Amino acid sequence: MLTDLIYPPGCALCKQRLSSASHIICPSCHTLLFPIHAPYCNRCGATLLSIQDDCLACQGRTFHFNGTRVGFVFDDSIQRMIHALKYRHRPGIGYYLGEQLGKIVVRESWISHLNKIVPIPLHKGRQRERGYNQSEFIARGLSSLTGIPIHTNSVIRTRHTRSQTTLTPEKRLVNVRDVFLVPNNQELNGCVVGLVDDVFTTGATLDSCSRVLLESGVSEVYALTIARA
Ligand SMILES: [Zn+2]
Ligand SMILES: [Zn+2]
Repeated sequence: MLTDLIYPPGCALCKQRLSSASHIICPSCHTLLFPIHAPYCNRCGATLLSIQDDCLACQGRTFHFNGTRVGFVFDDSIQRMIHALKYRHRPGIGYYLGEQLGKIVVRESWISHLNKIVPIPLHKGRQRERGYNQSEFIARGLSSLTGIPIHTNSVIRTRHTRSQTTLTPEKRLVNVRDVFLVPNNQELNGCVVGLVDDVFTTGATLDSCSRVLLESGVSEVYALTIARA
C-alpha cells in the first residue's frame, strides 16, 4: 500500500512504532502469537489433549479434504489481526500471517507433496468491495516461505454467501453448497493442493471448495488456515 510508505502503520496489535515499515507487529507482540503444536486433530486441526483422543468436533463428520493444519491459537491477538486483515484494509497482515503459517507447516511430512497453493476465492463483488482477497495474501506469504507456487485462476465463487458467523453448522453447510466452480482444470489436474482460508470454523467452506476441486481432477486437498474458531 502506498499509504503504508507515507504513514507507516504502527504494530498491528499495540500500535507502537515499528523499526521498519516492512514489519507488521513488534517483537514483543510477536511473542503473543501461540503456534498450535501436536497433538492436534489431523482432520480439522483442533488441538487435542492427547494424540489418542477422538476429536469431538469431527464426530459424525466427513470432509473431502485429506487433512488440516491450523497455525495459531484463536486468541485475542490473532482475532484482532484477522479482523484488521479483513475489515481495515491491511492485506500485509495476511502476507505476514501466511509466512508465519509457513514456518509451522514446513515441518509437516505432507508439505513436500503439495504442488499448488490455492486461496479460497471471494465472490468478485465482495473482492471489489474489499479491494483484495485476504486468503490470497495469506497464500502468498505461505508460498514465499515454502516455495510452493500459488495458483489463483481456476476456482471461482459463483455467489456471495451470507456471513457464516450467525449460522448453525447445518445451515453453514447449506449456505456454501455449490458456491464454487472450477471452469478450467488444466493447471490443477492431478495436483495435490494446499487450500488456504483465514479461519477454520466448521470447515463447511473448505469442504465445499475441496469437493469441486476433487471433482475437477485434483488428486488431494489439504486445508491450511491461520486459526481455528
Ligand atoms: Zn506490538
Ligand atoms: Zn477434528
